[in-house]
Amino acid sequence: MVKAVFPGSFDPPTYGHLNIIDRARGIFEELYVVVAVNRQKSGLFSPEERFALLQDLLSPYKNVSVHLCDTLIVNFARSHGCRVLVRGVRSVPDFSYEFELSIMNKGLDPWIETIFMPTDPKYFVLRSSAIKELASFDGDLSAMVPPNVAAALREKSKVIGPGEQST
Ligand code: ADP
Repeated sequence: MVKAVFPGSFDPPTYGHLNIIDRARGIFEELYVVVAVNRQKSGLFSPEERFALLQDLLSPYKNVSVHLCDTLIVNFARSHGCRVLVRGVRSVPDFSYEFELSIMNKGLDPWIETIFMPTDPKYFVLRSSAIKELASFDGDLSAMVPPNVAAALREKSKVIGPGEQST
């Protein structure tokens, strides 16, 4: 019985993230979806807004919980008894970044293993940054993000204006 963490910025959550969550929750006893807080990097959504969007989406799943974390992910994982970090991989550049990160995390805590999950081909072009840009031009997001996220993106565009976005 292994517990796992799926960390990310989720700014905002997409169908690509949800696909990884759906597959991982079928493999692990419990899945902790963790919004990694980086106060140096301002996102479009605040960490609390991302947390709320994920909670909305994931509340039907009994073995999935959502958390905010502003410490090292390996520290979060160990303190919750999670042995595995799940990471989604869309492409070779993703893999080379994720591979280096996994080596760093292994150095920080050798008890914790990183497991890579390749994207479903339907979602391999989905990237939060591209979605934010499309949203700022009022593009159709229905194939990319769930309705609660599309609505939140529309609200943000009203506030920050068309064509503008923060990273
Ligand atoms: P991004 O801004 O690239 O969407 P996140 O930090 O929110 O990044 O991503 C968290 C995790 O989800 C990472 O392991 C990332 O590779 C993975 N991920 C993001 N989008 C997808 C996708 N479309 N398919 C599979 N994995 C994904």
